[in-house]
Amino acid sequence: MAESRIANFGAGPSALPESVLHEAAQSLLNFNGTGIGIAEISHRSKEFDIYIKETANLIREQLDVPSTHEILFMQGGGTGQFSAVVLNLLARHRLLHPDLPEQDRVLDYVLTGSWSKAAYTEATRLANGATVRIAADSRAHSADGKSFNGLPPHSAYAFSSDPALIYYCENETVSGTQFAGTEGTPASFPFHLLPKNPTSGLLPLVGDYSSSFMSRPIPRLADHAIIYAGAQKNLGPAGVTIIIVRQDCIVDVDAAYRIGGAPIPISLAYKPYADNDSMPNTPSVLAIYVSGLVLKRNKGLGGVSYYEEFNKRKQEKVYDVLREGDAKGVLKPKVREGEGSWMNIVFGVIGEGAEARFLAGAEKRGMKGLKGHRSVGGIRVSLYNSVTEEWTDQLVAYIREFIEVESK
Ligand code: PLP
Repeated sequence: MAESRIANFGAGPSALPESVLHEAAQSLLNFNGTGIGIAEISHRSKEFDIYIKETANLIREQLDVPSTHEILFMQGGGTGQFSAVVLNLLARHRLLHPDLPEQDRVLDYVLTGSWSKAAYTEATRLANGATVRIAADSRAHSADGKSFNGLPPHSAYAFSSDPALIYYCENETVSGTQFAGTEGTPASFPFHLLPKNPTSGLLPLVGDYSSSFMSRPIPRLADHAIIYAGAQKNLGPAGVTIIIVRQDCIVDVDAAYRIGGAPIPISLAYKPYADNDSMPNTPSVLAIYVSGLVLKRNKGLGGVSYYEEFNKRKQEKVYDVLREGDAKGVLKPKVREGEGSWMNIVFGVIGEGAEARFLAGAEKRGMKGLKGHRSVGGIRVSLYNSVTEEWTDQLVAYIREFIEVESK
């Protein structure tokens, strides 16, 4: 079926493949020959039970998730995980080190944008006596000392020696920075600087992959304790949160509570989800279903390696035209060269009323979702997996035309 929809560059929820939406529409009436729609069927039905396991396996296969890690489907979005990672990993630390004074349990946060800052703020709310630290902050390396417009240099990182958690956000959806460089380069996450755990060697490394999940392979996936993502950017509708968690981080939170700290809401504890195939309670059946369809389609295309190439090409085209606009004094990148995100490209439009002209011109040509986040303003181009190369070319041609007109 021909693409009939407008080009949606929104930051999330965002575009989904049209073929998937047609299949989902059929399944709303009749899921898998059951005669019952996917929004109506019981999560305890054998058909859905098979489906959710297949969906987890599609993630395992495409991201090469080792058998040391479980794949869970939860709810509560990325925001729910800001809390869950703190509560579960503090419980793990308490079980490992029951006699440690609370202030010696340390949570290390890397701040690169508003989402890692939000996660840090939530950790300070929930720390309950533990120490929440900043291991690096990209604002300290910006010209004005307060903008998240790049990544911290590797020399700026200072991790604790045996923390309960080390946190980073791989792609900052609002600020537009990403650890997208190959390992060892300045735009990569500094895995080589992480502390060595003195006993187990297992690090409590947490990566927020909400806006880059499935867009390319995950570097050093096996070294992570937890990777999580809401589905609503690259994968499916809002409503399901995917968690890849190493088995030693799936702990009995009530046993930890008997030693100290605060009780943990059962809906945020990983163990009941791991023990019950992600269904200790009712999961978001429809969102899981659509995510499964997208994953099947991804597999046919070649999985994350395919998307890595595809997304690399798209972002290069947009950054190229952005450089042209910068040179002509029409556009202004908001992120330092080489440190920008592949998924969310943010820039300003220079001149009185120019931003409104840019957005109106885009809309007139059938392109939407380009207005920047209210906290940083300007334009944000989100290039998630379902943004086609045709849409990207259409946008780049429009930006080039805009630069010509505005620079006259
Ligand atoms: N982390 C990142 C990187 C995000 O982009 C978002 C939302 O856009 C969140 C966390 C919060 O996700 P949610 O809205 O699902 O709570």
